[in-house]
Amino acid sequence: MLLQGKTALVTGSTSGVGRGIAQALAVEGANIVLNGFGSPEEIEAAKGEVSAASGAEVRYSPADMTKPDEVADMIREAEREFGVVDVLVNNAGIQHVSPIEDFDDARWDAVIAINLSSNFHSIKTALPAMRRKGWGRIINVASVHGLVASAQKAAYVASKFGAIGLTKVVALETASSGITCNAICPGWVLTPLVAAQIQARADKSGQSFEAEKKALISEKMPSGEPATVEQIGALAVFLCSPAADQLTGASLPVDGGWIAQ
Ligand code: NAD
Repeated sequence: MLLQGKTALVTGSTSGVGRGIAQALAVEGANIVLNGFGSPEEIEAAKGEVSAASGAEVRYSPADMTKPDEVADMIREAEREFGVVDVLVNNAGIQHVSPIEDFDDARWDAVIAINLSSNFHSIKTALPAMRRKGWGRIINVASVHGLVASAQKAAYVASKFGAIGLTKVVALETASSGITCNAICPGWVLTPLVAAQIQARADKSGQSFEAEKKALISEKMPSGEPATVEQIGALAVFLCSPAADQLTGASLPVDGGWIAQ
């Protein structure tokens, strides 16, 4: 197993893409630190699912990604327990859809804090132990919206372009240290974050959820199909493999041709 004896911390892994990545890394033998919100039952279910994948150790941190101190404490706690966070996946993210003139200031701050600033705080705290070990993988889950824009997503697009810039800086500062830093840029993945956007469209148009899902995906993805959390998890595993030792500073679209247009 590729990650036997290593530890992976995945932010926002109680749901969606993060949960898929945690599962895929656990199958490769990594100890996993889960993070994110949810009811006690949802969190227990996520822990059970991930530990069933490999039998490796699974921990949960309730750290709020809007709070820099909690982000840093989460990393330090994982280091106390496991020595080092070998694989850091910055995945927690939120969306807010609104024209700029009506964009709520507090929502702007929350999107930037969770989607961008938390990446900075986690990387800053995790890097020293990775450097001491001479190996590390940092994966920022950005988005196609870090490469191209869509209307009404000012904070999200700004945060994801920022996450890609941060990825490149970290890649340069860690080059030749055994550490890589890359961004995964999904197109649509059917998760609760996207289901909420589809439901909002269906409520507005009076169309069914299925009809709006098809319309939303084919507007942007020539493939006509969303990506799956398993496909994103498999890419994260590849980025942890020796085949990816020289792959750093990249932004990898998983988008059915969205940005090729
Ligand atoms: P999701 O809503 O299913 O999951 C988001 C996770 O983040 C949850 O575990 C949630 O509890 C956690 N979270 C939210 N706020 C948090 C906070 N303050 N502190 C800690 N955790 C918090 O969303 P998803 O679709 O799985 O998205 C995950 C990532 O993938 C995000 O960064 C998102 O931008 C990115 N992404 C998703 C899609 C897509 O189509 N679903 C496409 C491109 C990029």
